[in-house]
Amino acid sequence: MKAFESMRRFFDAAAEHLELEDSLREALLMPRREVQVQVSIERDNGDLANFVGFRVQHDNSRGPMKGGLRYHPEVDLDEVRALASLMTWKTAVVNLPYGGAKGGIGVDPRSLSKREIERMTRAFVDQIHDIVGPDTDIPAPDMGTDHQVMAWFRNQWEKYHGFNPAVITGKPVEEYGAKGREEATGRGVGSLTVKVVKRLGMQAEKTKIAIQGFGNVGSHAAKYLAESQFPIVAVSDTSGTYFRKDGLNIQELLRHTLKHRYGLLEGYTQCEVMPRDALLSLPDVDVLIPAALGGVITKDNVDKISAKAIIEAANGPVDPDADAILHERGVTVLPDILANAGGVTVSYFEWVQNRQHYRWSLDRVRQELDHTLSEAFEAVWQMAHSKEVSLRVAAYMIGISRVKRASELAGLTS
Ligand code: GLU
Repeated sequence: MKAFESMRRFFDAAAEHLELEDSLREALLMPRREVQVQVSIERDNGDLANFVGFRVQHDNSRGPMKGGLRYHPEVDLDEVRALASLMTWKTAVVNLPYGGAKGGIGVDPRSLSKREIERMTRAFVDQIHDIVGPDTDIPAPDMGTDHQVMAWFRNQWEKYHGFNPAVITGKPVEEYGAKGREEATGRGVGSLTVKVVKRLGMQAEKTKIAIQGFGNVGSHAAKYLAESQFPIVAVSDTSGTYFRKDGLNIQELLRHTLKHRYGLLEGYTQCEVMPRDALLSLPDVDVLIPAALGGVITKDNVDKISAKAIIEAANGPVDPDADAILHERGVTVLPDILANAGGVTVSYFEWVQNRQHYRWSLDRVRQELDHTLSEAFEAVWQMAHSKEVSLRVAAYMIGISRVKRASELAGLTS
């Protein structure tokens, strides 16, 4: 299923409960603006390379639009459009004063040199600098981009508009970045997993966890959960699934990725190694954390999932058909718009610090992050129980209601 269609089905399920009219649904789903641009660069060998770049600005009724930049071969308009609207519901669920946007370039960054990625980023900024800004639309990292890309982006944008580090978040800590931004998504996933496990009456030491993806999000979630005494029995990346019945040594795995190409787990031999997709069908897992691509759990593989809870660290990992089956089976799914909101929450803290020319300690960032996510979690959990709906429907209901209310207050809808 295409990514936007998938998001729309989740949206519609919540819109039904909220009894929203069709015309209002249409208004809430329609992006404010979609931009597609040509990004051409000279490669190191002198050849010309052409890419397509996107920025979709979905909604700004609650504040400036906010969302990451993805460099990945599967990036296309449909995906960016879906991800932009997910950002709108996400910022609304955690109650940040933002709307939602997303951007990206259809490219495999591993096929480019560092200098080529820099040229491509600067060429992209040349095309979109007029539509982003600290009060309009604030990009951030996502798959395939990192603090270095954010630093190039900011530098290029400032050539047009002058000094203003708040134009982008996820910057290097020594260049106006926030302490704790890099770990934030994974840490949030970890702390929310702890809450779900407690509510389900399970104990950390006896709750076996499997994490798909060992990039920025998966690895920080693994670290947090291992430190909280959970056995992480399996992790995977594009090189395979790494399994150990009694729990993997996460510190050792992290050290391994630091020394290896593209941060991969490839070559790690201190455990059982299986094919990449084996992770999803492991028989004895209590909590599954998909922390890689979207659309990985579908009706074709959902029956093999043994977990009692799924924490959506990635954006859109469970498709609507699989979601319905999981709900029927009584599997608890913590939806992406809450589960991975730690990243954009600390992005907000970074933006606030930039605007105040002030720096927070790591402790303060972590404390405020935990507080923001706890409040959102409580609200979603209570809504799910009082309305007898899934956590996803509850989270969408809260997010959509806030966006609707803001449009009403602005006089756009009634
Ligand atoms: N790309 C992240 C997300 O999907 C973070 C966005 C941000 O910090 O603005 O939530």
